[in-house]
Amino acid sequence: MENIKNYINGNFHNPIQNHWIDNYNPSNGEVYGQIPNSSKEDVEQAYKSAKSAFPSWSQTSIEERSRILIKISELLEANLDRFAKAESKDNGKPISLAKAVDIPRAASNFRFFGNAITQFASESHESINQAINYTLRQPIGVVGCISPWNLPLYLFTWKIAPAIAAGNCVVAKPSEVTPMTAYLLGKICNEAGLPKGVLNIVHGLGGSTGQAIIEHENIKAISFTGGTATGAHIAKVAAPMFKKLSLELGGKNPNIIFADCDYDDMLNTTVRSSFANQGQICLCGSRIFVEASIYEKFKKDFVNKVKALKVGHPSEVSTNIGALVSKPHLEKVKEYINIAKAENGIILCGGNQVTVAGFENGYYLEPTVIEVPNDDCRVNQEEIFGPVVTIMPFHNEDEVLQMANKVKYGLSATLWTNNLKRTMKMSNQLQAGIVWVNTWMMRDLRTPFGGVKASGIGREGGFEALRFFTEAKNVCIKY
Ligand code: NDP
Repeated sequence: MENIKNYINGNFHNPIQNHWIDNYNPSNGEVYGQIPNSSKEDVEQAYKSAKSAFPSWSQTSIEERSRILIKISELLEANLDRFAKAESKDNGKPISLAKAVDIPRAASNFRFFGNAITQFASESHESINQAINYTLRQPIGVVGCISPWNLPLYLFTWKIAPAIAAGNCVVAKPSEVTPMTAYLLGKICNEAGLPKGVLNIVHGLGGSTGQAIIEHENIKAISFTGGTATGAHIAKVAAPMFKKLSLELGGKNPNIIFADCDYDDMLNTTVRSSFANQGQICLCGSRIFVEASIYEKFKKDFVNKVKALKVGHPSEVSTNIGALVSKPHLEKVKEYINIAKAENGIILCGGNQVTVAGFENGYYLEPTVIEVPNDDCRVNQEEIFGPVVTIMPFHNEDEVLQMANKVKYGLSATLWTNNLKRTMKMSNQLQAGIVWVNTWMMRDLRTPFGGVKASGIGREGGFEALRFFTEAKNVCIKY
């Protein structure tokens, strides 16, 4: 059994009440360890540890903070195989993906913010009436970071790295479904020389452990990535306490394909943007709109490519689609396939659970393409967050813009066209925080990241993240 402990004040602790939760391996459905079911008391202990580390960490030189963050990054890179295996076992994603994307990106997050903090500056304004204003950017104190299960270490570190780079101390909770790499990160932080208490990781359920973080009166900012309903709940709890909030929530992203695109590039990327990580990426293009003149050709080519994807055990090199993260999530996704059928959607391929020999109790599902009769149906409006995409034709820019913007979400959009005017017009009018043109999930960590509408508030990435994790204080001096 691989058991996990809370990481508080640089040490590993059992939960105070000694309550535990089973941790499942999605590839075979077996329990392979236990994790703390932390209570309010554990969160309080983590908070006290963070608080005691705060003033000194915030006064540690920028060079020293930067050095430690970059050291964490190097240690993650040196432990790539171990972390990739652990991530894959915990989440069900192919090891190849964890090795190529999740763990390198987690390392990049520390390296990027270790460097970014050395370049972070604030403004000064000289006023005409013999005064100068300058703005201080001060760390907030103890902040909370809460992350989801789909890109466990990648998204966990995307919050933690800027928080500590900016001089804050952190109480963090990974998803209880995928806690393993966050646990391993604690050991790396010690090895890198991160002072005790700067980062504290408490494991447990959202409704109790997570709740204790968001309602803690002295945890002054919450950076959260997860579902829209949870985000709304957090906003309700945090708003009366005037906490700073960054909410990165769900998506139902349009992938809009015009006939004048580079077809082969579009086709290959669309397979990826539909099914990477079993479709469990908030940025996946789950609603595919195709210009009518190439619709039938696209449908045939796309379905052929999707049918060729191999569903298999995450450790096999040939696997394209691993296991979904949990049994309840598998059931939720299957239920949406039933809803699609009831709404007269046509299942063009997939739609069934897969039994992988030797791992019969794993949570495997065929990549599924559904042709939908209209864009109002539930599978086109609600986030499924699995290996399921819908396709339908469109006839002109205005029609597809209207359909693309009709959902409650607004995280990202992908556009495939070589027409410059159309690119400019549609990029302006798409309701999304991120628009990709002729590419997907191409990330530059300096750019603002986040969504509009029910996809959240605030932006992560680059100096936006450092601004979130600091308070601006203006000083005006008359001379
Ligand atoms: P959830 O909202 O269920 O959970 C996210 C995190 O919040 C988990 O750690 C969870 O703990 C915790 N949590 C749940 N309830 C509370 C609470 N009351 N107080 C504090 N914390 C709480 O999301 P999922 O983990 O299911 O992740 C999938 C969702 O995340 C999808 O909607 C997806 O679109 C979104 N997402 C958004 C991204 C973005 O950048 N916009 C990126 C990636 C995912 P526990 O696991 O124990 O319930």
